Amino acid sequence: TPVYRVALVSGANRGLGFEVARQLSERGMTVLLGARDLDKGLRAARKLAGALGEVIAVQLDVTQQDQVDTLARWIEITYGRLDVLVNNAGAFYDPAANPSGTAIAPVRDAMETHLFGSWRLCSALLPLMRRHRYGRIVNVSSGCGASTTDSASCPAYRVSKSALNTYTRALASELDGSGIVVNAVCPGWVATDMGGPGGRPVSEGAAGIVWAACLPEQIASTGGFFRDGQRIAW
Ligand code: NDP
Repeated sequence: TPVYRVALVSGANRGLGFEVARQLSERGMTVLLGARDLDKGLRAARKLAGALGEVIAVQLDVTQQDQVDTLARWIEITYGRLDVLVNNAGAFYDPAANPSGTAIAPVRDAMETHLFGSWRLCSALLPLMRRHRYGRIVNVSSGCGASTTDSASCPAYRVSKSALNTYTRALASELDGSGIVVNAVCPGWVATDMGGPGGRPVSEGAAGIVWAACLPEQIASTGGFFRDGQRIAW
C-alpha cells in the first residue's frame, strides 16, 4: 500500500507556495495550504479541489508563535503525523524604500519571516516527524543568500536568507541519522508577484522545491543547498 503523507507549505496562497502545494497534491499527498489571510487560503485551496490529494487551507502567519503552536496541535490531533514541511513564506524588501540600508525595521521583518518563521515551524513540528522517523524539510532560500554572492542590493533580504542557510546546515547536522532530512533550495528567478514578469515559469521553480520535498530514502542527502536538484555553493 502507498505511504500516506501529509505536507505543510507556508505562504501557499499564491506564487511558488501555491504551485508547490499543487504539485505535492498531484503526487497524492494531503496538503495543508498555509495562508496568513485564511480567506485567500480558502480561495486558493478551492482551485486545487480536483487534485489527487486533498488540499486544506490552514491559518498560518509564520511570524505569529501562537498560530504556529495552534496549527501544530491541530495537525497532531487530526493526522498524528507530518511528513513534509516547506518553509516558503517570504517577502522581498525593496531596497528603494531603504536606500542607505540603515533602517533596522526591514531587517527585523525579514529575519522574523525567513529565519524565525522557519525556525518556529521546524521546532513546533519536528516532534511529529520524529515520531515516524521520517521528514523532509525544505527551506526556500535564494542564491543571493550565498556567501559567495557579491550583490550588494537589499541587505535585509540577503542577510535573512543567508541566516536561513546557516540554520539549515545546523539543523541538518543535528538531525543526521534521524530520518529527517533538511535542505535549502533556491528556486531560481521565478515569475511570481515577487519575481516579476521576467523570471522563469512558476512550475519550473516549484519543481526544484518539490524534488527536495520528495527525496527518496536511498538518495536523501541532508544539509545541502540545491537549485533544480543540483548542488549550489553556500
Ligand atoms: P510571492 O510574493 O509571490 O508570495 C509570497 C507568499 O508568502 C505569499 O503567499 C505571502 O502571503 C506569503 N507570506 C509573506 N509573509 C508571510 C508571513 N509572515 N506568514 C505567512 N505567509 C507569508 O513570492 P514567491 O512565491 O516568489 O516567493 C516564495 C519564496 O521563494 C520566498 O521565500 C522567496 O524569498 C523565494 N524566492 C523567490 C524568488 C523569485 O524569483 N520569485 C527567487 C528566490 C527565492 P500574502 O499573499 O498574504 O502576502
